[in-house]
Amino acid sequence: MNQRNSKARPSSGKKGRRLAHKDVAGRVHLAVHRDPASGNERVVLRSPVFREAWQNDVAAAAANTAYAVLRVDPSVDGAVELARSAMAAMSRLAAGLLARAPGGAVACRAGCDHCCYQAVGVTPPEALAIADHLKTTLPDAELARVARRVSEHHERTRDMPSAERFSPDHPCPFLASGRCSIYDVRPLSCRGMNSLDAGECATRLRDPEARAAFLASGVGGRSFMEPIRAFHAISAGLQLGLSELFRLDMRPLELTAAMHLLLSGPGSLADAWLRGQRPFEPARGADQGKDPGLGEPSAALGLAPGRDP
Ligand code: SF4
Repeated sequence: MNQRNSKARPSSGKKGRRLAHKDVAGRVHLAVHRDPASGNERVVLRSPVFREAWQNDVAAAAANTAYAVLRVDPSVDGAVELARSAMAAMSRLAAGLLARAPGGAVACRAGCDHCCYQAVGVTPPEALAIADHLKTTLPDAELARVARRVSEHHERTRDMPSAERFSPDHPCPFLASGRCSIYDVRPLSCRGMNSLDAGECATRLRDPEARAAFLASGVGGRSFMEPIRAFHAISAGLQLGLSELFRLDMRPLELTAAMHLLLSGPGSLADAWLRGQRPFEPARGADQGKDPGLGEPSAALGLAPGRDP
């Protein structure tokens, strides 16, 4: 079935549900302003979502892009284009921010893969962009091999809490010889991830005692926070734009589970999602609510597990 035919519709605002603080169009965080002279529309945040002003600007810009792209092309292609645009923006922003880090502070280098052994959060458009990339670039036999590997990984990890997923036994299914095999379309979160201490990353992943102590502490590793904040802002803008302006389910998904669905599940999933249904529910992950890496921006927006988008 062709996944590219379904259409997402901008919200009419007539379905108003139960959440408080909604405007007449049913929006909680966003408003759409029309310039009376030019007729151009602009999406704005009704109130700040983040403490830092630049993050609110970035979130509003991402929501504007989401509105502009899906209004013109409310299809799977449009969602893929939007995700690609967000990914490119995230990489540009991260590069600019990383350039401001104190010299040599950020330890991440090509071939360093310690952060690729854990559950990874994605939004549905990111998952669609990854699936599109794989389906359009890989020969059939290689695509089938990747789909099998993803499904096997999903079978092993589907009911695992994220703490258990953080293990050298559970590399991301897209990790190949220490490198990301989907680098061009890697998730937004992967683009923001960084560390100030590669040795610390290695020890807490590979030394069982250090790993247990790290997980018990509930404290993340030492990172240069600006790229991570940029990821939160872009992801939030994307989630808000599609959930409030198009009534799409933008609660984050677990990468492996989402790719298992898209590569091995029925071909109608993207269509159903664009019609406002929730076909990705099985990819919500075992305990996303407990993993700040998966759910933090969403929770801040009221898109946390178990809540209406
Ligand atoms: S998608 Fe790529 S960068 Fe992200 S965890 Fe997987 S292998 Fe690592």
